[in-house]
Amino acid sequence: MIDFINVSKTYPNGTHALYGITLSIDKGEFVFIVGASGAGKSTFLKLIMHEETPTSGKIVINDTDVTKLRRSKVPYMRRHMGIVFQDFRLIDKMNVFDNVAFAMRAVGKPSAVIKKRVPYVLELVGLKDKMKNRPSELSGGEQQRVSLARALVNNPEIIIADEPTGNLDSKMGAEVMELLHRLNKEDGRTIVMVTHNEEQAKQTSRTIRFFDGRQVM
Ligand code: ADP
Repeated sequence: MIDFINVSKTYPNGTHALYGITLSIDKGEFVFIVGASGAGKSTFLKLIMHEETPTSGKIVINDTDVTKLRRSKVPYMRRHMGIVFQDFRLIDKMNVFDNVAFAMRAVGKPSAVIKKRVPYVLELVGLKDKMKNRPSELSGGEQQRVSLARALVNNPEIIIADEPTGNLDSKMGAEVMELLHRLNKEDGRTIVMVTHNEEQAKQTSRTIRFFDGRQVM
């Protein structure tokens, strides 16, 4: 589903962020990306999301060589991905329903579909009764679950999560992790998650570790 073939990334200022990364992530896997600050974790996620392009090597996502993808096709590729950030990135002027609906409106879904789908996804993350609340009226854990609902609403095959529990206390972090594990096990979503937390990384079958831009075993 996600294949990196000898991928290197050097930023325009000369910083080498990744060297010769070759790996495959299969459909339905839950993979943790770990490594110290500066090891190349965010660069790896940005390459998957096509926010950055590799300096050399090839990246294949769902059988498409994205290194050759035309710029106009990038939004279509991103529709296969739901993205969750450490800082939630919710819009406080909008209520919970609209924050999630926003992602569907952005891809032109009709409002009748949105009205059905958003409550369904909010129910899935246990927040249907908070639909009319503003994000600032929710706890951090609830806000992260809204952002997970937003990531899921367009039914992506891959969920990319960049330290999703980094701003949460351990109880709320555990709730978000439980939800991610459920989405992986019951729904078969492929999950790629960056974490600093070694304990979390032990809860899954696969950990990819970066050290100074190289993958270590
Ligand atoms: P991590 O997510 O593991 O902290 P990053 O992928 O953010 O690591 O960074 C890897 C290396 O690339 C670091 O040395 C970082 O300073 C550098 N880097 C990241 N983004 C840029 C950029 N836009 N321009 C130049 N250097 C960058």
